Amino acid sequence: MTKLNIQAIRRDFPTLHQEIYGFPLAYLDNAATSQKPVQVIDAVADFYREDNANVHRGVHQLSQRATDSYEGARAKVCRFLNADSDEEIVFVRGATEAINLVAHSFVRPMLKAGDEVLISHIEHHANIVPWQMLCDQVGAKLVVIPMTESGELDLSGFDDLLTSKTKIMAVGQVSNALGTVNPVKMMTEKAHAKGIPVLIDGAQAVPHMPADVKDLDCDFYVFSGHKMFAPTGIGALYGKQALLDEMAPWQGGGDMILSVSFEKTQYNALPYKFEAGTPNISGAIGLGAAIDYMQSIGIEAIASYEHELLSYATERVNKLDGIRVIGTAEHKASVLSFVIEGVHPHDVGTIFDQQGVAIRAGHHCAQPVMQFFGIPATARASFAFYNTMEEVDALVDSISKVQELFA
Ligand code: PLP
Repeated sequence: MTKLNIQAIRRDFPTLHQEIYGFPLAYLDNAATSQKPVQVIDAVADFYREDNANVHRGVHQLSQRATDSYEGARAKVCRFLNADSDEEIVFVRGATEAINLVAHSFVRPMLKAGDEVLISHIEHHANIVPWQMLCDQVGAKLVVIPMTESGELDLSGFDDLLTSKTKIMAVGQVSNALGTVNPVKMMTEKAHAKGIPVLIDGAQAVPHMPADVKDLDCDFYVFSGHKMFAPTGIGALYGKQALLDEMAPWQGGGDMILSVSFEKTQYNALPYKFEAGTPNISGAIGLGAAIDYMQSIGIEAIASYEHELLSYATERVNKLDGIRVIGTAEHKASVLSFVIEGVHPHDVGTIFDQQGVAIRAGHHCAQPVMQFFGIPATARASFAFYNTMEEVDALVDSISKVQELFA
């Protein structure tokens, strides 16, 4: 057993301590969004209590403190991702906005009719729709790496999908619907061997495992803060400096300029060129606090404990009759998706809620995955390091309750 002091950790998360319909809350919807520790809540509240001001523009004390904290958070993200410099870190609303930024500023200018964008069958809609929209606009083709019954990528024909027409490969590191951990490092190596740039969607990876952009050697890496214990509305785009330098800004406005006249605007340096308008200052500060918090626990320790949680949950659920686990990849992180025979996942979710067990029921913004398995939806339990084996037991008890009710 990994030694994390789960009870002490849980004391940091106020939302976890409540009853739902008289049952202790078991929050197992972490892939949708995570709960926030007091360290993050306090960092945000302290900013508004003590330092609130706009960044980069003021000469007064409050503005300087706000700027220092905001830029301090950028430095934390830089170290968290093992990037080379703060200039490679752009604050955005989340993974969705980061992918759209890369689609518009990096890919669109070079994409022509007949070109290809390579994604996979198990992507979140955020890593499908922006590329599809782009392809539609210029007459390019969206090419999809197929998947297998176990929910892994079928890489048997992968080399042939990387062609001279491929302008970018965009793949998720961990699938939100299935929990599959994809071999993104190897895939990146292969793409690079053919000169194809790579974006990795790390939204479901960063809460659970070390993220190292140098080791992955990806060109872009995106994630959302709210899935890793930070506030909503903040996330980051990492991009290799040489690429970000060449890219035109996506949005125009204040702070992304050096000078403006009606004849000509000179853009600001990196990363400000991509941060038009007043940013989410408190969100960035909260993200910095979340990184500090995760690092104080240890990301390797988090990964190892969550592995035990998932193995225990999978083992218990596999012993039950009338349950089909969706997503049985060899390498998985923190997600257990399943269907209970004869019961719609939405009913499963509602009955679970009445037992205090919060899970997600739906297509998880991954409709092509549902189409592959021929199901409308799954019930999905997703774990964080504050979850306990007892909460897994509550999940299994709730499955039995559903089966009793529908017997
Ligand atoms: N990518 C993956 C794998 C996700 O799971 C999600 C959200 O669930 C996203 C992207 C989009 O994240 P956001 O909605 O925070 O932008």
